Amino acid sequence: MKKITVLGVTGSIGQQTVDVVVHHRDEFEIVAMSAGRNIDALEEIMKQLNVSHICVQNKEDKEYLENKYKDCHFYYGQDGLMTIATLPEVEIVLNAIVGFAGLLPTMEAIKAHKDIALANKETLVVAGHLICPLVKEYQVALLPVDSEHSAIFQSMNGENHQDISKIILTASGGSFRDRTRDELADVTVEQALKHPNWSMGAKITIDSATLFNKGLEVMEARWLFNVDYDDIEVLIHPESIVHSMVEYQDTSVIAQLGTPDMRLPIQYALTYPRRQPLINGQRLSLNDVGSLHFYKPDLKRFHALALAYEAGRQGGSMPCVLNGANEQANSLFLNGRIRFLDIERLVEDAMRAHEWVDHPTLEQLLEIDQWARDFVLKRVGED
Ligand code: NAD
Ligand code: MG
Repeated sequence: MKKITVLGVTGSIGQQTVDVVVHHRDEFEIVAMSAGRNIDALEEIMKQLNVSHICVQNKEDKEYLENKYKDCHFYYGQDGLMTIATLPEVEIVLNAIVGFAGLLPTMEAIKAHKDIALANKETLVVAGHLICPLVKEYQVALLPVDSEHSAIFQSMNGENHQDISKIILTASGGSFRDRTRDELADVTVEQALKHPNWSMGAKITIDSATLFNKGLEVMEARWLFNVDYDDIEVLIHPESIVHSMVEYQDTSVIAQLGTPDMRLPIQYALTYPRRQPLINGQRLSLNDVGSLHFYKPDLKRFHALALAYEAGRQGGSMPCVLNGANEQANSLFLNGRIRFLDIERLVEDAMRAHEWVDHPTLEQLLEIDQWARDFVLKRVGED
């Protein structure tokens, strides 16, 4: 029985993790979980699973739950997240919190010798230079949940690192794949939230439309697989069937394919190195799909991707600035305060204004993240 902590259990990845666990009750047990502010969703999950340690964001929610459920332990805030990420009986922490908020619990879990199933890509984007040495030092496994990275991970099974020639990350292109740049000026939040192939949380759906998500994934791949940015290529693949590929020095290309279903990479991170049936999983019929398409993204059209490569190559504190500014701008767009193309403009402005630091410490990252958010708010006059 594998004992799991799920951080961000009420989100899109969190709920799909619950689905995987419910279908494999003899394999997995969620002993602890965290939610943000969606207490209704949390209580629904509590009906399905007997989880003894639960963390929420606010003290009031914690007190409400404590009065209602007497046989659970409740926690709140950052300290609560640290507690449930480091419980002695837990083997693996699945981090499905969205954004920078996922960083500290990931670090604490590693230091408590927990394996990490990582959906929270922002952790690696801002602090890959701190996380990767920690993973080595504490000898834990860092298993990707992001579908592209799971595909790459699966395509590297049994291979030697020195034989890799490049990684090919596929991208659906998001909600506005076929629009010209001019046509992006007036798109609405509702249009941006309609992803063609995946149903996901709001932040990542907007990131998919701007292509910042693919940019974050390029940086995530750099850290997970220790490859140079020159050896990470992005290809638009509208069908989202080939989840990503690895090319080897002998010209072989190994890919992982499947119908788009996040429960597969979630489950694989939990069962690795074994596989289990995916309950209600739809099998891929290439006969029905018929044809698959691939083409290079135009970096002028998808400027966010160019910015992400730039921030990644510069390294140090720049990815943290890109990430913090993007989180703030993404949220302003979702709240109807700025227009779609303002997101990448604000991120670029923050990057240009930032005084770069090499190898930032955790304390510096916390400050830089806040600086980037404040910068964006000031720019749009909302501070
Ligand atoms: P979501 O918005 O649906 O869920 C986020 C979860 O985190 C919720 O439980 C929420 O309550 C919690 N949360 C939010 N802010 C928090 C905070 N400050 N402190 C504590 N908890 C907080 O997001 P999602 O789509 O499930 O994505 C989660 C992560 O997984 C993101 O990093 C995303 O990039 C990554 N990811 C998601 C998908 C997907 O299909 N949804 C695919 C690949 C990667
Ligand atoms: Mg992905």
